[in-house]
Amino acid sequence: MFDRWNDWKWQFANRITTTEQLKKILPLSDKDQQDIETCLGLFRMAITPYYASLIRPDDPFDPIRMQAVPSILETMPDANDLSDPLGETADSPVPYIVHRYPDRVLFLVTLQCSMYCRHCTRRRAVGEEDRPITEAGLRNAIAYIRAHTEIRDVLISGGDPLTMSTAKLEHIISQIRAITHVEIIRIGTRVPVVLPMRITNELTSMLKKYQPIWINTHFNHPNELTPEAARACAAIVDAGIPLGNQTVLLRGINDDTETMKRLLLGLVKMRVRPYYLYQCDLSCGIGHFRTRVEVGIDIMHRLTGNISGYALPKYVIDAPGGGGKIPVGYDYTISKNDSEVILENYRGDSYRYPQPAQ
Ligand SMILES: *Cc1c(COP(=O)(O)O)cnc(C)c1O
Ligand code: SF4
Repeated sequence: MFDRWNDWKWQFANRITTTEQLKKILPLSDKDQQDIETCLGLFRMAITPYYASLIRPDDPFDPIRMQAVPSILETMPDANDLSDPLGETADSPVPYIVHRYPDRVLFLVTLQCSMYCRHCTRRRAVGEEDRPITEAGLRNAIAYIRAHTEIRDVLISGGDPLTMSTAKLEHIISQIRAITHVEIIRIGTRVPVVLPMRITNELTSMLKKYQPIWINTHFNHPNELTPEAARACAAIVDAGIPLGNQTVLLRGINDDTETMKRLLLGLVKMRVRPYYLYQCDLSCGIGHFRTRVEVGIDIMHRLTGNISGYALPKYVIDAPGGGGKIPVGYDYTISKNDSEVILENYRGDSYRYPQPAQ
């Protein structure tokens, strides 16, 4: 029998995009339905049947539900909301490329995702159209990378690049790989979390041809660490592709030390290396997900030294207006002068490190 549940194209084609479909899996009051409809006028919804199956229907604050199902709070703008919170437009020399840091570029190859995360940074653009990059756009972007010999790292993102066919993706990756100054290619994707069946042999065999490739994914909660997700991550790592993770700190979802600890340790068990923990940015209609910065600093402070260093991501704020990622954290240096540095360890005890003469 054709195993449609494990077929990514079936999962993709059968995404939940309307309240009618959502009602079949979640109890929704008339008010809930109205609220979701109002929201859908602004931001679209798409939930893979797989990701929807992780929602506990009786819990309105279920962490999977909160990431997938629109909330009326999205329609209530916050005074600080920005439509381009990371100032990416200003750093885009040609369409589809964001060149902010000296040696690497972001290459946005599609606006399509398999699931539209409620907290998405690029939500204004993402999901607007389902078309991947045009041939002319691709030619132009590749020409830019080729002309800029300082680019040694190309980060393919979107949208989600793994929503494209393997052939289309290979068409893009092979052209990037042919540029001699590009040392590494990275792919940013949420597929291992929301559509793990997309990680097929066909895909990993293709990617293997273009090593070195790195992948970064986006797990936010331990409930996402399912056997299916573990299989997808293992297939990526077994293909020789280092797999990292970026988590967004989200109020009511993962903004407590215990949840974060379970997530980070669970990732390391799956051979996924926590890379960044992002402070939630100022994207429109996601103000209800933002925590105060002290919350993130406190979580990282409580975990540092108490769990494996491998499980600790770097906590960063992607500065509004295009400043890039800025690390924030607890300051373990109590004092520093010409002769000594006084340090605090993870237990709160202080230690002295004598400085060598200058
Ligand atoms: C995050 C980001 C990168 C990659 O940065 P790393 O710190 O190397 O992971 C590159 N370009 C842009 C515009 C980014 O936002
Ligand atoms: S997968 Fe990434 S780009 Fe797509 S909706 Fe989620 S956060 Fe946004």
